[in-house]
Amino acid sequence: MRTELYIDGRWVKPAQGRTFAVINPATEEVIHHAPAATAEDVDAAVKAARRAFDKDGWPKLSGSQRAVYLRAIANGIRARQAEIARLEVIDNGKPFPEADWDIADAAGCFDFYADLAVQLDNNPEEPIALADGRFTSKAVKEPLGVAGAIIPWNYPLLMAAWKVAPALAAGCTIVLKPAELTSLTALELGAIAEEAKLPPGVLNIVTGAGSVAGQAIIDHPGIDKLAFTGSGPVGSKIMAAAARDIKRVSLELGGKSPFVVFDDADIGEAVEWIMFGIFWNQGQVCSATSRVLVQEGIYDRLLARLVEEAGKIKIGNGLDEGVLLGPLVSKRQYEQVVAAIEAGRSAGATVACGGKPPEGVDKGYYLEPTILTDVPLDSDAWREEIFGPVVCVRPFSTEEEAIALANDSRFGLAAAVMSKDDVRAERVAAAFRAGIVWINCSQPTFTEAPWGGYKESGIGRELGRWGLENYLETKQITKYVSEDPWGWYVKPVVRA
Ligand code: NAD
Repeated sequence: MRTELYIDGRWVKPAQGRTFAVINPATEEVIHHAPAATAEDVDAAVKAARRAFDKDGWPKLSGSQRAVYLRAIANGIRARQAEIARLEVIDNGKPFPEADWDIADAAGCFDFYADLAVQLDNNPEEPIALADGRFTSKAVKEPLGVAGAIIPWNYPLLMAAWKVAPALAAGCTIVLKPAELTSLTALELGAIAEEAKLPPGVLNIVTGAGSVAGQAIIDHPGIDKLAFTGSGPVGSKIMAAAARDIKRVSLELGGKSPFVVFDDADIGEAVEWIMFGIFWNQGQVCSATSRVLVQEGIYDRLLARLVEEAGKIKIGNGLDEGVLLGPLVSKRQYEQVVAAIEAGRSAGATVACGGKPPEGVDKGYYLEPTILTDVPLDSDAWREEIFGPVVCVRPFSTEEEAIALANDSRFGLAAAVMSKDDVRAERVAAAFRAGIVWINCSQPTFTEAPWGGYKESGIGRELGRWGLENYLETKQITKYVSEDPWGWYVKPVVRA
């Protein structure tokens, strides 16, 4: 486990020599002391990224040349996949198979953006047809500069990959700050970049508190773009900070995503997807389908089956065989989720199952899978993101009612619908006001497809070619090609 920051291609002690404790949420033990960056460290990281962008030539490399580094990073991740997945488990708490999946996905993300970097060489410019034949014009894409990336703790390495890979592919340099709860694998990414011989300053990694290191990033005038994934309140702060000097900004924020199940759906399949949609990663998933709307005809049977299946989920240390639900990431997160369940109960909700730690557990931030029913529509339990293994289930009668309930939210990240009637499913999918819509499933995520939210769930899209666009500027180049020596502008003036 790393004890230093990765700045300008070197491992350096934080300027003020501070560290912070890393706690394993399964055991509550302090497993490491990570370096705590302050504004001085962030300044050094931004200066290195600036130099790598402005002088050292990273953006001048061809896409194919940059792709070589990206593929080397992908291979470096894969070469240490099990070891990195284990670090993710002891840092974040998630079950090992989930962490293993995340790490493979992170490697795949670097490969995907390596391919897109090569494509940038193949399509360097787009001709523009002008109505005025005395000019030709074209649009070219250019890397936009130095990016500051701030990420959350729920998918530590994967969220880093979603930002670092497209930024490097585009020709940007980057300063990355992982969440203070999960610093371990981001620092390993620095080691992998070093082994891949990524030029100094192209990727810099500063660990530390959001209010210190994160704040220093968003305030730094040397940064051209802020790429953020995290909570809405911090997203607002970032947008306000970006407004001061018109930094580019992309935000991936929270959600309270609906899952609409019609009564022609197979109950067993629906229950599987509902569980995947809310209990995966202990429900600490921005796109978790945490509001389930079930048509009246199957409501009672589906709810009974869901409660039964939720009760079978094996809870425990993510390193233990067969565990499907680990601890929540921290004591604070655990307390917030329990408080949200209690607030729901006080507002009139019924706890159909869960809502408490599993029997006989005295260490670790464990919480049973929790199902709430009779949740009032104006309660926080229905309207606010809980970010834990807590699902609200409610009956509906008509398609119109389901759509209205689904869209009645200030968020718009994801939504899901399940029905054997494909025409109806497509109609409901079209009616959802959300950036990610699933039909007959919940949560499958693909590097090729755009990811991001409507409304207060964010601005911009990650992944796919949209993710690359986040790190590119568009330049128009227009040429006067007429044989008439008098210019377009001066001619009418001088000859008049
Ligand atoms: P958070 O907003 O508390 O923290 C996110 C990051 O911001 C951390 O690195 C933190 O250190 C940093 N930060 C905090 N204060 C800061 C400040 N003043 N200036 C700069 N940086 C600061 O969020 P979290 O608790 O880590 O993550 C959970 C949230 O993230 C949830 O709301 C979830 O929905 C959201 N999320 C969204 C997506 C998505 O793709 N839309 C993905 C994962 C998580």
